[in-house]
Amino acid sequence: MGLVNPEFADKLERFGVDSTFECFNCGSCVAVCPLIDGHFPRKMIRFAQLGDEDKILRDAGDLWRCLHCGLCTQTCPRGADPGGLILGLRRFALDRWRRFPNV
Ligand code: SF4
Ligand code: SF4
Repeated sequence: MGLVNPEFADKLERFGVDSTFECFNCGSCVAVCPLIDGHFPRKMIRFAQLGDEDKILRDAGDLWRCLHCGLCTQTCPRGADPGGLILGLRRFALDRWRRFPNV
């Protein structure tokens, strides 16, 4: 896609996410996440803020590495619920693959 698409946040609301723009990219979630690589989960949240669906789907495998430990959500100073956002992005990816299996 490449262009900024803020309407993606509205789309994510259908998948249970209403905190897309709460994140201010402080990186606390990255620091506590046990996956400790690839700037996860902040990177995916940034993609969501930009509405970059292509990059979310490109890196969607990372979404399934999340352990649901909740550390990121407990640590986030903005109440952005990064763990919940990751779950919502999973739902978005599954819906996209179900509707467009060959894309
Ligand atoms: S989700 Fe929260 S902890 Fe993670 S970068 Fe954004 S504001 Fe910081
Ligand atoms: S819930 Fe997922 S993204 Fe958040 S800290 Fe745990 S493993 Fe990382």
